[in-house]
Amino acid sequence: MLNMSYVEHVKLSSQSRFRFRCHKAISCFTRCCNNIDIMLTPFDIIVMKKRLNLTSEEFLERYTRTEIDENTMLPFVFLRMSDTEKRECFFVTPDGCTIYDHRPVNCRYYPVGHGMLKKAIEKGIVDEEFFFMIKEPHCRGFEENIEWTIDEWRRDQDIIKYDEMNRGWKGILLTNKSLKKQMDARKQSVFYMACYNIDAFRRFLFESRFFEIFDVDDETKQVLRSDDEDALLFGFRYLKYIFLIEETLRLKSSASINNKK
Ligand code: SF4
Ligand code: SF4
Repeated sequence: MLNMSYVEHVKLSSQSRFRFRCHKAISCFTRCCNNIDIMLTPFDIIVMKKRLNLTSEEFLERYTRTEIDENTMLPFVFLRMSDTEKRECFFVTPDGCTIYDHRPVNCRYYPVGHGMLKKAIEKGIVDEEFFFMIKEPHCRGFEENIEWTIDEWRRDQDIIKYDEMNRGWKGILLTNKSLKKQMDARKQSVFYMACYNIDAFRRFLFESRFFEIFDVDDETKQVLRSDDEDALLFGFRYLKYIFLIEETLRLKSSASINNKK
């Protein structure tokens, strides 16, 4: 578990610099892959389940645990660690991470932490991204001699696509609407399905009356049938609609008439 006293309370920007290198010959190699809580993002799950050739249900069942956040009542998914005293990640071996090219974005960022907040500027409220360092005493990478800006680190670790794909999810988490007030069991389970269980979300789209109610063109439907990434982005649109954040979908005119009756 990450001890918060190792989190530096200095807000960094994408141009802030730090010295760090992680490599196989370092004495602490893989020490950071146990006894830690790694929150998975929606895009992590798509990448990992594909790499492991699992359905999203199988992946969630085998490798994750879920916690409900008290502030929003939203479910969040974490990588499950082994039940041993060391609480090791299921993917770690003495040779390193067995899914290295498909590892979660929080593993990619480490030892950088990242967050987002709402900021008021002249034009209104905007999202502000910020970064911070996590300096755990066992991590020797800070003693190495390579310097990066945070942006260089993000590019080197292939993080950019993850952040882009998860932007809609973060937008929901950062909404100024009270999610807790409008939360019920149905919205909670739709959030879980659309964000984490993409195969179930696709079944929901195609096996319910969804397309009788919402106006979605044939080309989009076609893509949603086969493309997980597009289905995920569509899921964020649907969540913004049901949480009253944005009118991201249009009801079919017959559905709006029926709904008014
Ligand atoms: S503890 Fe730090 S240097 Fe060591 S393996 Fe983990 S990230 Fe790399
Ligand atoms: S997924 Fe890979 S990098 Fe992340 S904790 Fe597990 S073994 Fe380490």
